Amino acid sequence: MSSYSERARAILPGGVNSPVRAWNGVGGEPVPIVEAHGSRIVDAEGREMIDLVASWGPAILGHAHPTVVAAVKEAAARGLSFGATTEAEVELAELIRERYAPAERVRLVSTGTEATMTAIRLARAATGRHKFIKFAGCYHGHSDALLVAAGSGLATSGVPDSAGVTPGAAQDTIVLPYGDEAALTAAFAEHGSEVAAVITEAAPANMGVVAPPAGFNRLISTLCRNEGAVMILDEVLTGFRAGPAGYWGVERDHDVAADLDPWTPDLVTFGKVIGGGLPVAALGGRRDLMEQLAPLGPVYQAGTLSGNPVAVAAGLATMRLLTDEVHGRVAEAATSLRDGVSGALTAAGITHAVGSAGTLFSIFLGLESAPVTFEQVAGQDTAAFARLFHALRREGVALPPSAYEAWFVSAAHTASDVDHIVATVAAWAQSERDS
Ligand code: PMP
Repeated sequence: MSSYSERARAILPGGVNSPVRAWNGVGGEPVPIVEAHGSRIVDAEGREMIDLVASWGPAILGHAHPTVVAAVKEAAARGLSFGATTEAEVELAELIRERYAPAERVRLVSTGTEATMTAIRLARAATGRHKFIKFAGCYHGHSDALLVAAGSGLATSGVPDSAGVTPGAAQDTIVLPYGDEAALTAAFAEHGSEVAAVITEAAPANMGVVAPPAGFNRLISTLCRNEGAVMILDEVLTGFRAGPAGYWGVERDHDVAADLDPWTPDLVTFGKVIGGGLPVAALGGRRDLMEQLAPLGPVYQAGTLSGNPVAVAAGLATMRLLTDEVHGRVAEAATSLRDGVSGALTAAGITHAVGSAGTLFSIFLGLESAPVTFEQVAGQDTAAFARLFHALRREGVALPPSAYEAWFVSAAHTASDVDHIVATVAAWAQSERDS
């Protein structure tokens, strides 16, 4: 164990402040990171790597974009936090609505966890019902009622649920297999009048990336409308990343092209990209629902650092820079990396499947076809993933340290970054085949 690891473990449980950072899914000792610029991240041993973690999503422009850093410096010089309203937070909320029309009203918070927790509370208050439906493998942050069959770090650790969640907190959470229309319809038939909400990731990306089966999100929307429940679309990870208007926008464009009326969520949660790397998340949605939040309505929600001016400056600068052209570059890098990696694995005869949703993707080693349910995802070869992870590290590529996460690219990833990663995967795949 390095002296850093010893010191970290002597003060931080597991040496980290968020579980997956401990490399519990892949083994080995994480080296602390000291800086990151563009597509590169540098560790304390001076190793520069092409980064595919992107801070788990926010760094869509690449790290430390000069315009974003300048905006943060400028905001910081004017005061770190006021605990009062600012024009910049209004502007960020307007920008979110401009690009994502279902967010008629927006409340800024600091984490995705707060956004989804508040969404559930709001749905319960608005409907006077207690139960809600979530899907196994979807992660919505770590509030008690949502920490059931939650994917993400829990899947990485092999812990399906968290200890410390009381039966009372979880008893109104109905967990269904993702993408299972019959199970969803049956749950509404059985519990319809008690269901306050269905919460779903717009496209699951916390059990690896799963493409929602065609019509699944629309079915959720229809059932919620017919049964008087609230549809909560969690776009914390996919929002302004899977496409310019999140994964909802990907489906909307598809529906419009097919001459179908787009479906719309009642509430939507954002995080990650809208903060550009600083803590900003948001809850948005139908005006009549959102105006039930305090101070207008009876649903309480608050935050000392909500809409923090420095964090909002980072989010605003990031969102302004995130034009369709920039999204196009992210899409190009994601597509060429995804296809290149898959092609290299196929050429070496390595069984794998590709999960893909908008510009998000992940590779499932050992699976013959793209999974939909968490049960199918759990059949992947995590030991092979750990070998791939370490092989890539040795060659200067930082993959997320878990088989249950997306491979995050940014607008700063170049064609030569992609070529290097693909060549490294190809070499690993050959050595796997020969071993
Ligand atoms: N929802 C989704 C879909 C997420 O991916 C995450 C974070 N990975 C969250 C909610 C929770 O966000 P945070 O970590 O900011 O609390």
